[in-house]
Amino acid sequence: MPGRRRPHPFQPALWRTSIDVPALVEEVRSLYFPRVPGPVPVFFAAHRPLACAVTASEELVFPAVYIHQVLNHPETPVEVLRFIAKHELLHLAIPPKRSGRRVQTHPREFWDAEARIAPESRLAWQWITENLGPCLARSSRAREVHITRTWTALEFAPRAPWAPITPIRPVPAPLL
Ligand SMILES: [Zn+2]
Repeated sequence: MPGRRRPHPFQPALWRTSIDVPALVEEVRSLYFPRVPGPVPVFFAAHRPLACAVTASEELVFPAVYIHQVLNHPETPVEVLRFIAKHELLHLAIPPKRSGRRVQTHPREFWDAEARIAPESRLAWQWITENLGPCLARSSRAREVHITRTWTALEFAPRAPWAPITPIRPVPAPLL
């Protein structure tokens, strides 16, 4: 059937980065989330979220992290992948909070914990916005970032390097 030829959107993609992403996720897990059983498998997939953590369910016997295929690029900085690993594994450590019919995927304690373990958050978002801006969409609720179908136009486009903001006051040499 012709309609069946389209690949399934959740089909995991082959690796295009030289970074050992499973090792990176495991490093982050063992360092910040030793109570989360690991290693947590990680896949690149062309689905809607920029990244997501899937908890164990009837369909999936183990938790896993999915990162959007638009980040499966040789020039994606390791800092961005590490930040995403921290954010997604934090979802496994701090599960969504339910109050009545409302589900809070990012409760206050989630953001507090992220601020403690990921001081690079702003820089990572700056890189993501600068490099993937045209295909980013923010959902109206829960501060979740999605990737629109236009991402394929960026699939092989060059990426800017990780560029920390130059501090206004120069950092003293002994601290560098
Ligand atoms: Zn999240």
